[in-house]
Amino acid sequence: MQVSKFGGASVKNAEAVKNLLEIVNHLDKSQVIVVSAMGKMTNAFETLIQYYFSGEKEECKAQLKFIKEFHNNIILDLFGDLQHPMLSAFWECVRQLEVKLEQLPSMHFDYEYDQVVSFGEIFSTHIISAFLNTSGVNNKWVDVRHVLKTDDLYRDANVDWLMTEELMERTFSFTETSLYLTQGFLGGTFSNISTTLGREGSDYTAAIIGYVLNAERVTVWKDVPGILNADPRIFPDAQKIDSLSYAETIELSYYGAQVIHPKTLKPLQNKQIPLYVKSFLDRELPGTVIRQESPKIPVPVFILKKDQVLLTLSPRDFSFITEENLSRILALFSQNHVRINLLQTSALNFTVCVDRKDSFVKMVEQLKEFYSVRYNDQVELLTIRHYNQEVIDEKLKDRVVIDSQVTRKNARFVLQSS
Ligand code: ASP
Ligand code: MG
Repeated sequence: MQVSKFGGASVKNAEAVKNLLEIVNHLDKSQVIVVSAMGKMTNAFETLIQYYFSGEKEECKAQLKFIKEFHNNIILDLFGDLQHPMLSAFWECVRQLEVKLEQLPSMHFDYEYDQVVSFGEIFSTHIISAFLNTSGVNNKWVDVRHVLKTDDLYRDANVDWLMTEELMERTFSFTETSLYLTQGFLGGTFSNISTTLGREGSDYTAAIIGYVLNAERVTVWKDVPGILNADPRIFPDAQKIDSLSYAETIELSYYGAQVIHPKTLKPLQNKQIPLYVKSFLDRELPGTVIRQESPKIPVPVFILKKDQVLLTLSPRDFSFITEENLSRILALFSQNHVRINLLQTSALNFTVCVDRKDSFVKMVEQLKEFYSVRYNDQVELLTIRHYNQEVIDEKLKDRVVIDSQVTRKNARFVLQSS
């Protein structure tokens, strides 16, 4: 069997859903199809949960209306009728959401987030499953929350592999159908409370299912022809890479390339299941394949991280940057969930490039007790993997380089924002 994952962009409107039908029609073999919330609906649900949680009733109502209308429009385009008999399960879920929002939040934010935001995937899969069934592509809708079991770390839940294996093997038996359709991003606790795996987690869902069912391959359908050597919105001459190893892909996502959700690759690597990244805009194109062995990447890879802060710390007590200082500093970064993207140390200075986020300010206050702190928050971090001097010169032309770090495979530059 195989697993195919369709992200939000691939189901963002009725036309996209019809295109999904076309792709699914051409897939051979038994399949589990994993689908995300439609378009930017997860963001819309995030706004909804903010209003709901802070008790802004009118805003909450208006946002719910917006979400319902978005889905209604797609339904009208696909079925021509909101009350199509195949949609009863969908309407039942809409009702559940409405009931939920009429009650007051009963638990902490992350819990409530998962209970509300999970409706994005529930809605999309009900609509798409019904549409495929009415179009002659018979499929069985599976509630992934009943088979992908997690702990209760809401918004970042961890998979319970043993329970998940047992439940998935039983549910995806391929006896009564050759096509299952289920939600990405969601899980359920032992007592069936909804959880989520972290934003963009649907890739990971596809990998979990692929791993458990020993899939022959997992395919992620995207709006790009495969994995590119750079973000085409920033570097217009980006080129597609035909083949990558698991290890290389993990490195790329570590440096910030938004190729694939980083948790996706480990389970696949473990069972040597190839991952294909293909374009839903042209299903004939070969895409990129990620597997154990791969020829060396033929082109340099460029990864630009924006919204970075370059932070330098020097001990106030004239001590050096010793192991003791390092462990105190790193503990504060970890407690505040501030991710270090580049690190340099010298006798007197500890310098890092980090993501700019709210907890950064709090962390700086804590650091100031022991260190003098200087920072520059107008910077970007450019990583060139498999670099050569020519591409470095070209990319750094007209840029102000504040710091750099060059190793055998990577050349990394902290640049003033352009
Ligand atoms: N819908 C979720 C998100 O947008 C999960 C996903 O798309 O992978 O984050
Ligand atoms: Mg999405």
